[in-house]
Amino acid sequence: MAAAPAAGKQAPGLYRYRIGTFEVTALYDGIWYRPITEKFIRNAPFAEVEHALDRAFMPHDKLTTPFTTLVVNTGTKVVLIDTGTGGQISPTAGQVVDNLAAAGIAPKDVDLIVISHFHPDHINGIKDKDNNLVFPNAEIMVPEPEWAFWMDDANLNAASGDLKETFLNQRRIFADIAKRVARFQPGKEVAPGIETIAAPGHTPGHTVFAVSSGNQSLLVLGDTAQHPGIFARHPEWQATFDVDGSATIATRKKLFDRAAADGMLVTGYHFPFPACGHLIKTATGYEHVPAEWQPAL
Ligand SMILES: [Zn+2]
Repeated sequence: MAAAPAAGKQAPGLYRYRIGTFEVTALYDGIWYRPITEKFIRNAPFAEVEHALDRAFMPHDKLTTPFTTLVVNTGTKVVLIDTGTGGQISPTAGQVVDNLAAAGIAPKDVDLIVISHFHPDHINGIKDKDNNLVFPNAEIMVPEPEWAFWMDDANLNAASGDLKETFLNQRRIFADIAKRVARFQPGKEVAPGIETIAAPGHTPGHTVFAVSSGNQSLLVLGDTAQHPGIFARHPEWQATFDVDGSATIATRKKLFDRAAADGMLVTGYHFPFPACGHLIKTATGYEHVPAEWQPAL
């Protein structure tokens, strides 16, 4: 009996599901174990945070941060919602292009990129490490209030440390392609069946998406909450990476209440892959119930 050789590598990270006649492909970009300190949650003592990390089976010094982008094929357009890290944030992330290939989609086939907000894990995949566009034919659409806040030089000059790095990174991505970047007001439709909804707090122009076809819909939550093991269970927690803590909480509760009340299918950019499922309300917060893997579309 011959022993089978070990594969030694992970399978491609993609998962497909249908919303009406639209085909959605979740593409895994990878994961970042983001270092955190005792000040990580602004409005809770670290002992409580450590307890929550234990309940989510996470270490105490790192936040488990997976990344999932979405391709929505509406039948007339191939739309990419957020672009991943471009391999520029963590050595264990940057797999969107490989997983896109595994999904049978070429970068040149992406017609439209829609961005939720300007943090690097959402925009860096627009370009490769050498500053070349990864999706050569894609129109790029970004929220107007996000552009207004981050591309303002007075805001850049007032920033320091990591926040200043964030501003500089946005200029690296957008400055030389500004002419081809279209800005939309949250509330507008960016493609037939893809509505945008203002969801400020995490960043001033943070925007979420309602993808609807036929009688089905999907709420694309972006960074309304990061890992649900921490932030669905503790919706009142404000993290250091939220620009406006109290607005983050108000937006999170409003959207999560709506999703839980209506039993909506949701997806979160930092939810465990394939990042889709439902939210239910509990006595103290919410719990994410992952969708069941389906063998057929
Ligand atoms: Zn993010």
